[in-house]
Amino acid sequence: MSSTVFYNKLDVPRASRESPDRPIELEEESEILKALLDIMYPGTHFNAGVGPSFTFYKSLCMAAKKYDIPAALGLVRSLVPAAGRRFPPILVYGLMYELGWEEEMKVASTQTLGYDLLSTDLELQNQLSLCDRRAVTRLMMFHRSRRVQLIEALNFEDLGNSSFWYSVATCGHLPPALSLKGFLFLSKEMDNCPSGDSLRTRPFFFESKLLEELWTQKCSRINIYCSSNSAIINKEKLISRIVEELDKPPKTI
Ligand SMILES: [Zn+2]
Repeated sequence: MSSTVFYNKLDVPRASRESPDRPIELEEESEILKALLDIMYPGTHFNAGVGPSFTFYKSLCMAAKKYDIPAALGLVRSLVPAAGRRFPPILVYGLMYELGWEEEMKVASTQTLGYDLLSTDLELQNQLSLCDRRAVTRLMMFHRSRRVQLIEALNFEDLGNSSFWYSVATCGHLPPALSLKGFLFLSKEMDNCPSGDSLRTRPFFFESKLLEELWTQKCSRINIYCSSNSAIINKEKLISRIVEELDKPPKTI
């Protein structure tokens, strides 16, 4: 038997006044113990997936770790992606942090990227309050790093030397200043949805009134020595370059 907890329970001398027939008491709910036994013993079939609730899944993970049962550990750890789809990913991430399962914590961290951790949504704030403080800080830094990395790649501060902007200019010239105010919202959008998925779906670029000026801005050297008559920024190229940049920042914690 690999589980030292089970072993110690069974090995401990029973008090003399205690009847040897009295069952050894385990602290877990019977449904969790039943699930563990179903996982452990050949011939029985455990088919509950992640279980009916987050509390069930959490208890199963905790019990698998406490009793150190390889079959159960293997199963609950492999269920993390499914758990993150079924239950709030922030809770699953917090649980993996608590259990110290680093690889699974990374998987769950990716699943949190659809959420703005600073949102005032009460349910989301409640989920964060149930996680370890250090886990929350680490998650916030991870979300933030994705936004920072994207904004840095776009190099708004030095357009004239930015290979990014030259790669999307139609005539090879860049005016001293582009109308970039719409892109202030790009930063906000990365806060709202740090995965960047809302940017990948394009309405951001097509529907934003703030970007209209950028799409119509012409080259500032026209009439001097540039013969281009199109908008200075190639819209399709810009969108696909931004989507490329979205794939670069780390996707896990
Ligand atoms: Zn030009």
